[in-house]
Amino acid sequence: MPGLYARESRSVSKMAHLRFFPQAVVGGSGAYLTADDGRQLLDFSASWGAASLGHSHPAIREAVGRALSDQAGASYLSSANEACVLLAEKLLSLVPERARGRVWFGHSGSDANETVARIVVAATGRPRILAFHGAYHGGTIGSMGVSGHPAQQGSRAEGLTLVPYPNSYAAGSPEAARDAALAHLERLFETEVPPEEVAAFFIEPIQSDGGMLVPPDGFFKAVEALCRRHGILIVSDEVKVGLGRSGRFNAFEHSGIEPDIVVFGKGLGGGLPISAVVGPEAIMNHSVAFSLQTVHGNPVCAAAALAVLQTIERDHLILNAERSGKVLREALDRLTARHTLIGDVRGRGLALGIELVTDPASREPASRQAALTVYRAFQLGLVLYYVGVQSNVLELTPPLTLTPAEAESGVAMLGQALADVAAGRIDEALLRDFAGW
Ligand code: PMP
Repeated sequence: MPGLYARESRSVSKMAHLRFFPQAVVGGSGAYLTADDGRQLLDFSASWGAASLGHSHPAIREAVGRALSDQAGASYLSSANEACVLLAEKLLSLVPERARGRVWFGHSGSDANETVARIVVAATGRPRILAFHGAYHGGTIGSMGVSGHPAQQGSRAEGLTLVPYPNSYAAGSPEAARDAALAHLERLFETEVPPEEVAAFFIEPIQSDGGMLVPPDGFFKAVEALCRRHGILIVSDEVKVGLGRSGRFNAFEHSGIEPDIVVFGKGLGGGLPISAVVGPEAIMNHSVAFSLQTVHGNPVCAAAALAVLQTIERDHLILNAERSGKVLREALDRLTARHTLIGDVRGRGLALGIELVTDPASREPASRQAALTVYRAFQLGLVLYYVGVQSNVLELTPPLTLTPAEAESGVAMLGQALADVAAGRIDEALLRDFAGW
């Protein structure tokens, strides 16, 4: 549909990175991005969850400006600065007692999970790691090595064993999904994988890139009991759904478990590159050998992260995630009645997924339609992405500041996009511009 936006306004085709939309962004404010032709785009992805406070938040601008104008500024590197000390203290207060030891700072979810993968093996002397099929823990060799997403096939670490994440929609009920996944794990320990050789189990408390799967009640409690029995460390990857997004500060809190190690990233810096691993001293001490990265723990990113955590508290954004999430969820449930493409709506707070199927009875994944819907939504002014091992789940992770009116407005555009895709009112040739599929 040429004319909806100026395709030649500024080419992004020179970018070697994976890109989803044929337009560069030049700015943003709150839940909105500004495209280079001036169009306002409602950001239901919050840049994949990184823009936790939305775009150009005054608290981040002010904190970063102040950090840059300090004498040492960004050039004083490597964690031993006041902002990092304050941030470490804050993060330690936000995790369960058993994880309250030391903090390691990195730049991304990938380097944080990679660090964990190395230190748990070094600290326990156990060579094996468990993770879930569909799990995305990062894009570096080390973090891909403990991931189970199809995009990372061929990069699995030698000691890695993948187990199924319970999928309530596919299994027909949460109970059936939970029981099958637990039975698989117990069988695995009795047959192929001696539990005493397993150092850690990497979990996503909501499996986001694998399809926004919400674990059934009792699942992670049972996993925790198994891990405790065998001395296996639990690593909760909170990179996408943590920091209030799910309606609790840590998403694992919904399952009532207490992980040994907690990994933060994405939204922690509100768009600036910073990640953190928080865990017991005896294990974190093994990270010293991996601590030498030139600009990790720099005071500018740490100042942004402190501003993010303070703003989440001051503006009650966890409560807002729950409330606006409820409005969003209800609006999506209303859409479900009108669109046969929608098979399932799921998630918690402002971490929601919509599984698209070609037919609700067969539940055949509607992957092409998911790509078309994302593209059509972009044309209409809504930014979201798709996830899932079959690439057929629309992922909604808007800023934690989302208002109920913005939630309604986004769902109206999404409904229009779904209707246009279902009716074939979309020029598929435009997908050529859409690198990534
Ligand atoms: N963990 C999870 C749960 C993620 O969703 C992602 C990114 N999608 C990562 C880790 C990797 O984070 P990054 O892209 O910052 O390296």
